Amino acid sequence: MAAEAGPPGRARVSATAASLTESVIREMTRLALQHNAINLAQGFPDFPAPEEVKRAAVAAIEADLNQYPITWGQLSIREALAEKYRHHYGMTIDPERDVCVTCGATEAMIGAMVGCVDPGQEVIIFEPFYENYGAAAAIAGASPRYVTLREPGWSFDEAELAAAFGNRTRAIVLNTPGNPTGKVFTREELAVIARLCEKHGVLAITDEIYEHIVYDGARHIPMATVPGMEDRTITISALSKSYSVTGWRVGWAIAPPDLTDAIRRVHDFVTVGAPTPFQEAGAVALRLPDSYYRQLAAGYLERRDLMLGVLAAAGLRPATAPAGAYYIMTDASVLGLGDDTATARALTRKVGVAAVPGSSFYARAGPGRSKIRFSYSKKLATLREAGRRLAQLTADPM
Ligand code: GLN
Repeated sequence: MAAEAGPPGRARVSATAASLTESVIREMTRLALQHNAINLAQGFPDFPAPEEVKRAAVAAIEADLNQYPITWGQLSIREALAEKYRHHYGMTIDPERDVCVTCGATEAMIGAMVGCVDPGQEVIIFEPFYENYGAAAAIAGASPRYVTLREPGWSFDEAELAAAFGNRTRAIVLNTPGNPTGKVFTREELAVIARLCEKHGVLAITDEIYEHIVYDGARHIPMATVPGMEDRTITISALSKSYSVTGWRVGWAIAPPDLTDAIRRVHDFVTVGAPTPFQEAGAVALRLPDSYYRQLAAGYLERRDLMLGVLAAAGLRPATAPAGAYYIMTDASVLGLGDDTATARALTRKVGVAAVPGSSFYARAGPGRSKIRFSYSKKLATLREAGRRLAQLTADPM
């Protein structure tokens, strides 16, 4: 096909698209498939979703709930969300005015940015970060401003954070429990962030998708429940991680009515709606008993501990064990396989275990170069097999 459609020299793609780099996480998935490697790169479970949730999706399809949903979400799931947030966090949500159901947390984040941030404004993002946040800011035409979380503990320096807030700051993105660090923000840390948000009239856009995956007595505290933040927080989460259905693409944003209205406007024209039968199944999932979440967290604790052992046997000792979510960021320079990208590629090709290069979670080149991220949202048997493969590294240095 001819490459030239317009006047010579005129770019055929937008500056926004050109600024987006390919997702390194999904690139590593492709490499894993190519080399038949165990995919500990992209975080998605290889075990089944709960039976009753799967049955609810099948039932919804058989009941012919196969047409467009209500744009901002089927009533059933919005009501289930209101019940769940009241039950778990004591939050009061109006299902008619405070909820927009989206195609995954990914769309909710982009909808929140495009809906609530103007081009040229700034969005504060903690690094290391999940790579989608910078892209969401870019799509909104906003500029990301990074504040670094440091080990051990992955906390922030209060003065550095305060200095990031300015006249142009519109929002701060908060991911707790966090990807890729496993950081669970404490009430004290949230209070510091909240004070700055209030002082500068800034919104918090939170990604709480790992809300039910916490360990060692850590508690997930939604930013919206921190005093002063109820009216300035957009709470984002999804079915994906809590019910092991990352391919269903059902997420949501919960926010005060004016912000919800803005997100709904964007959502309406971008996707019209999230898949109807999966929303109906979501209403069933969201009503699972407390025991379900205890089992989910206990299952992930077992996987975390197994994975920490597997890594230790390969000579990898993360400075901070994850307190939540299902990722481990660890220094990998001891392996002697080169920088993060070379290490992640060598592990995928030669050892048969895929991981993500640490630099894809940082804006600055330095700190990620020695790190790689493993996801352990896999069956114990899969993690044990990964352990057998990684053991080659100590047995037979490459
Ligand atoms: N959140 C998952 C991860 O960080 C999946 C990313 C994706 O591909 N959407 O690995």
